[in-house]
Amino acid sequence: MNKLAQLDLKFVWHPFTQMCDWLRREPVVIVKGSGAELRDVRGRKFLDANSSIWTNLHGHQNQKINAAISRQLKKISHSSALGFANEPASLLAERLVKAANSKSKTQNPKLAKVFFSDDGSTAMEVALKLAYEFTQRTRYKSVGRASRRAAEPRFLSLEGAYHGDTIGAVSLGHIDLFHRAYGRMLFKTDKVMSPYCYRCPFNRAKPERAGAREYRKCNWECVGLVEKKFAAQKRKGNPYAAFVFEPLMQGAAGMIPQPKSWLKQVSEIARNHGALLIADEVMTGFGRTGNIFACQHENVQPDFLCLAKGLTGGYLPMAATLTTQKVFDAFLGEYEEFKTFFHGHSYTGNQLGATASLASLEILQSEKSIHARQNLEKNLREELKSLWRLSNVGDVRQVGLVAGIEIVKNWRTREPFELREHAGIRVCEAMAKRGVLTRPVGNVIVLMPPYCTTRAQLQKMVSALREAIEEIF
Ligand code: PMP
Repeated sequence: MNKLAQLDLKFVWHPFTQMCDWLRREPVVIVKGSGAELRDVRGRKFLDANSSIWTNLHGHQNQKINAAISRQLKKISHSSALGFANEPASLLAERLVKAANSKSKTQNPKLAKVFFSDDGSTAMEVALKLAYEFTQRTRYKSVGRASRRAAEPRFLSLEGAYHGDTIGAVSLGHIDLFHRAYGRMLFKTDKVMSPYCYRCPFNRAKPERAGAREYRKCNWECVGLVEKKFAAQKRKGNPYAAFVFEPLMQGAAGMIPQPKSWLKQVSEIARNHGALLIADEVMTGFGRTGNIFACQHENVQPDFLCLAKGLTGGYLPMAATLTTQKVFDAFLGEYEEFKTFFHGHSYTGNQLGATASLASLEILQSEKSIHARQNLEKNLREELKSLWRLSNVGDVRQVGLVAGIEIVKNWRTREPFELREHAGIRVCEAMAKRGVLTRPVGNVIVLMPPYCTTRAQLQKMVSALREAIEEIF
């Protein structure tokens, strides 16, 4: 076995991985990347079909990002944001604010301030803490300490939600498997039904192919449930402080798209009940859904926009939480009032991360990249069609450049595989044998190609998936 593989097996503990399984085989040790391709220590080539867990945008070894980082390396790699400003972080903050407001047509507050952190979880943690404190300061300011305690700011998020792994972010999530062990460490949040048209309990989902269940008109029962939830909480005398959601598509829940106008409708309900909107665009941000940000498709202007993964083009860990002037102002005061936002990380505003982000945004907003993304989206839609004929493919979902293929025991009954059957994992292993790397979410296989993926590479990704499903089932 290769020396590096041995070292990994001896010393490294991998995320979200049953290490018993991991230790049974030689790991793929990635040593190089170029465009949509990865290369391992044994010289094998693989396609990066999930953009290195949803982070990479323009491919590996992008010349422009490489050059920008090299230039910055000659100046400085890191100095602290606790006490000092720096060049790339200031430029990036301006650029993010502009990008976030670029399609806004609403009267609602504009995003004006950027708080940098390290990854998706911390971006969410920052939004959560800011929303919590903002609500305490503005909504309960006239009530006494005792009743302020009784009326804790309460958060509403979606069924199946995943917002990261720190305690606050896990509290906002609703995936039982991840909650089980930590239940008592978490704070209580409420959940509400999120649309999952393929498995809609109201059986309104449109049949995707001949012979599937009958189509009945959608009456937006899922929106009605959101309305009810907000109304019930209002009756308790403590309306929700914030509504937390992934716009357009829930990622770790299983790549589940929201029907058109769902986001707009529920955002309006939340606003009408005085709740802040926290948009988690950690997965959907930076062009994955077509627009730079997914909220822009429905002209929804959140109070918090949480960004990470693709921010640096998939080069470095960096995150940002954008918020409004109104939220910012609630934290202003004389030093001794102690209204400061007491939160920060050692690498906040890191120069290398900010430089990579600036270069990545430059590429992302170029005509060439916009055109390439439009093509890739169209080609992906074309290629995915070939999967419908497989009887273990239940649903093929695509939003922009993101696809989720739900594997089932039988497409007619939609019977799911039990998690212990490892259906998704087995399919991905069979794809790896064919030179295509991705990771499932449960029984859903994710295809999220980097934007530089060629048509031939895309065809290879989809045919590897098709063959893998045929082989396994
Ligand atoms: N929010 C969403 C929507 C995510 O998909 C993820 C990660 N998959 C996170 C938050 C957490 O991000 P990170 O892993 O960078 O902490």
